[in-house]
Amino acid sequence: MTSRAGDVVAGLALAARAVGASEAILYLKGSFDRAAAALGAALAAAPPEGVRVTVHRGDDSYVAGEETALLESLEGRRAWPRPKPPLPFAVGFQGRPTLVQNVETLARVPHALADPRAFRASEATLVSLWGHVRRPGVYEVPLGTPLRRVIEEHGRGAPDGVRMIFPAGPSAPPLSADQADTLLDPDALRAAGSALGTAAVLVIGESTCPISVAASLAAFFEREACGQCPPCMVGTQNVARVVRRLAAGRARSEDLASLAEAAGFMSQHGYCAHGRTAAASLMGLLGRFRVDVEAHVGGGRRGGRHADPFGPDSPERSAIEAVVA
Ligand code: SF4
Repeated sequence: MTSRAGDVVAGLALAARAVGASEAILYLKGSFDRAAAALGAALAAAPPEGVRVTVHRGDDSYVAGEETALLESLEGRRAWPRPKPPLPFAVGFQGRPTLVQNVETLARVPHALADPRAFRASEATLVSLWGHVRRPGVYEVPLGTPLRRVIEEHGRGAPDGVRMIFPAGPSAPPLSADQADTLLDPDALRAAGSALGTAAVLVIGESTCPISVAASLAAFFEREACGQCPPCMVGTQNVARVVRRLAAGRARSEDLASLAEAAGFMSQHGYCAHGRTAAASLMGLLGRFRVDVEAHVGGGRRGGRHADPFGPDSPERSAIEAVVA
């Protein structure tokens, strides 16, 4: 039986064979020490035939997960998304056709080929469960499991109750507590107004102020915008400024109109989906927690604990990063 890292290496070798590649690179966040050690051990134990595999410790930024930003980083430049077309399958690493795929998918390839029927019958995804749960961690969860069960059974519940759930971390709008029975499934989550994404499921506790979470989300997108495209760069700055004012109880009703305008602006063309994603996540949150938004306007503030789950020093974030790194 292979380890999980062994599954990644085996899947990588199969993918390389399928596309006729003689070179493969496993790109990891620079801070992922345990993953790098596990992959190194798996490669030493069972070096794949016919393909030279290296492990690259790269950039820790959010945008480096975008496939062309990752290629830029691999080539020794800043992890900035490239204009498209061309896409990496035509012009990728060092100008050569390149397949970019995530390691979770690669790890499933050997199992899908070994027993396709059993694989389809038990299709699962890795969930990074974090935030206000008793037991944050990475769990393999069958698709179709209700989010409530993921929180209760894997996370050992939310001590404070649930205020909102981000099924895809910052990359899609959150669901409210009354949507906790939504299934962990791309179609079900899309129908509920969110997305599965990378299944980085963030749980926010009942006593947390949703507008403080909106401010954290806006600051995250502002901080992580690489700065190449004015609509994204200026839009994320403007939106973050207004949401900060809102969280502090200093926004006026006309600021809400300017928020919508700024979100529309940042959804315009960019080299990657960062601006569009920021606008969708943030406006989705503010739309879902409209009562709280209105309570914050004009100096009024509803009570609630402030949280900064997307901040660089957030305890919620460091708890899950300690698990995966
Ligand atoms: S959309 Fe934003 S993050 Fe993406 S390339 Fe442009 S400025 Fe950078």
